[in-house]
Amino acid sequence: IAGKWMARKRVVRRRLPSGFRVCCTKKVIETEIGRKVRQAEKAGMIVRKNQPELEKMRAAGLLVYKVLSTLKSMVAEGVSTYDLEVAAEKMITEGGARAAFKGYPNPSAGSKFPFVLCVSVNDEIVHGMPSQKKILKSGDIVSIDTGVQLNGYYGDSAITVPVGQISEEAQRLIDVTRESLELAIDKMRPGNRLFDVCGTVERHVTANGFSVVREFVGHGIGTKMHEEPQVPNYIDRRNENPRLKEGMVLAIEPMVNAGAPGSRVRADKWTAVTEDGKYSAHFEHTVAVTAEGPWVLTRP
Ligand code: MG
Ligand code: MG
Repeated sequence: IAGKWMARKRVVRRRLPSGFRVCCTKKVIETEIGRKVRQAEKAGMIVRKNQPELEKMRAAGLLVYKVLSTLKSMVAEGVSTYDLEVAAEKMITEGGARAAFKGYPNPSAGSKFPFVLCVSVNDEIVHGMPSQKKILKSGDIVSIDTGVQLNGYYGDSAITVPVGQISEEAQRLIDVTRESLELAIDKMRPGNRLFDVCGTVERHVTANGFSVVREFVGHGIGTKMHEEPQVPNYIDRRNENPRLKEGMVLAIEPMVNAGAPGSRVRADKWTAVTEDGKYSAHFEHTVAVTAEGPWVLTRP
């Protein structure tokens, strides 16, 4: 589930909740689980994870990877998107984890998301709902997004998979979206800034004639699925541009439209689709900033 982009006031100096060790910048703190994290989040701060915490996020990430790899191999003509849901839920339960999406509240829908997967086909951008009536056919592209919570920590990842024979343009859309994520991952190094990540996605996508969705964004992740900061797939100078530091973990998730960037949400209040009906692709990884460089937690 991608974050819904929300305009934020620039964070001015705020008092830190007591008990935090303040790092080099006022907005970045060492993490502590529980109430203090929530206090920090409220104050608009980015929570950094230490090594034991990153190891826990790694375990969650590898389970997400296992689920998505299995689903990828299941995708074929005649398979329903609900078949994928059933297989995913079984694997998550067997892995001893909780499905992060099932029960996730959407204030604007006034409802909770009822599935462990978001499955978004063709013009659906994100947050599509699995259904027995939705049978995959040759030429479709299917985005599968899932997350788990394991030992208190989250992992979140998404892939887009072709069904049977797809058009050349659809294949290029998938390739460019995946490439934009890989290029952005490479920017996850101490000393870079958030805009290096955001701008890398935007530049690669627009240089290839596609467009990035603006209404939905990536996010920090840790003991909550959505933490600070918001991670748009574009640069908007009005947004925060913090420096990346060791221990920051971001879910980077380019959502790329073949046509215009516009999106709307269907009457089910969840499924985001392209306004022009053209295809959209989505890839996501949970990535930690470490001294050795980017650590992609959601793949081996
Ligand atoms: Mg996701
Ligand atoms: Mg996400």
